[in-house]
Amino acid sequence: MLGTLNRRLLEFIAASPSPFHTVATVSALLEQDGFAPLSAAAPWQLQPGGRYYFTVNDSSLIALHIPDGTPTGFTMSASHCDSPTFKLKAHPQSSAAGNAYVQLQTEPYGGMLMSTWLDRPLGVAGRVLVEEQGRIVSRLVHLDQDLAVIPSVAIHMNRSVNDGFKYNAAVDTLPLYGVGSDAPSLLSMAAEVVGVTEKDILGHDLYLTCRSRGTVAGCNDSLLLSPRLDDLGCAFGCLEGFLNADSSDAITVYCLFDNEETGSESKQGAASTLLRDTLRRTVFALGMDEEGYQRLIANSFLVSADNAHAKHPNHPELADPQNAPVLNGGVVIKYNANQRYTTDGVSTALMRSICRMADVPVQVFANRSDMVGGSTLGSIANTHVPVRTVDIGLAQLAMHSAYETMGSADLPYLVEAMTTLYSKSLHVDNDGGLYWA
Ligand code: ZN
Repeated sequence: MLGTLNRRLLEFIAASPSPFHTVATVSALLEQDGFAPLSAAAPWQLQPGGRYYFTVNDSSLIALHIPDGTPTGFTMSASHCDSPTFKLKAHPQSSAAGNAYVQLQTEPYGGMLMSTWLDRPLGVAGRVLVEEQGRIVSRLVHLDQDLAVIPSVAIHMNRSVNDGFKYNAAVDTLPLYGVGSDAPSLLSMAAEVVGVTEKDILGHDLYLTCRSRGTVAGCNDSLLLSPRLDDLGCAFGCLEGFLNADSSDAITVYCLFDNEETGSESKQGAASTLLRDTLRRTVFALGMDEEGYQRLIANSFLVSADNAHAKHPNHPELADPQNAPVLNGGVVIKYNANQRYTTDGVSTALMRSICRMADVPVQVFANRSDMVGGSTLGSIANTHVPVRTVDIGLAQLAMHSAYETMGSADLPYLVEAMTTLYSKSLHVDNDGGLYWA
């Protein structure tokens, strides 16, 4: 039986084929719940009890719920809305002249498992910048059709391919868009979607999308398969908790960052000053000063939510023997001694106490000590916003595949934990003791 939450996650993912679409999807859900958009260029007039959200580049988003009384701190989560894919180049397709094949011109975005993008129908999604009545405006584009394929080389032409193959992104992963000298321009199709002509497109950020739909699979419906589970699983689970939570004494903050897969170093990424600037601006708009901001920071907590590697069924030797999560085992707390994950003893204890209140099982992840793992938002965001932070995630297999696998029981655990977290505010007593209230 496909649970309601899992079904809604798959709908959320299907509606979010690019970071721009994810921000639009989340914005619509926030507005349904009474959140009002804030403009970077206009004064912020925030009210106690108010709900607001703010977007940057149409690809990162921060939502804020102000408490009725004087805020005591910030209770926050951060997840990311980008995922590894291929970005279309400025001139996105080859000419058919002298070659019946028409190819798309792409470059990799992030570190994907390249082979998983081969031999499956691909679409295109993102945004175009068009001129309308003397203004340049951004329009979402989703060419929601089977538009292209990256064909494998037949086994007969590369007998050793199953012994390992090095993919060259300038050669092996160019998508085939079609055959014939009369192929329509891809940009003209994008223009048609937004009601303009190709010459009106002044700029674009368009990506390939895996068009395979998510599904519940396996015995007892125990698996959940979908594109972009990393990190839309956490983005959706944290949003559910944020919207479901009882009111808190803290300002509750939901962050969705773009560009995690390329290191977060962009104006809208977690390495920018976006989070710090937004928190400060919020506090000042509520009539507090720098001292007030610093006091709130002292009573704040951030959950950096990004998926975790589950122990692989075929390769258990790749996991740490004692610190390896499994599918359907609960929320994963992630550790790294060198601060690629920011979790420490304090933030572990705080997150475990939340999960205990929520009756949610906790697992742990650390890399084998002889393997270099990934990193994520938490430690990067901490360089600008120094708050107690835990890295958590949903256990998954095949991270950065075009089609990923997680357990079907874990999303409800994350939602329960985040609902409890967002209903609480962190306090420090005079002896340095920490408690949730
Ligand atoms: Zn991720």
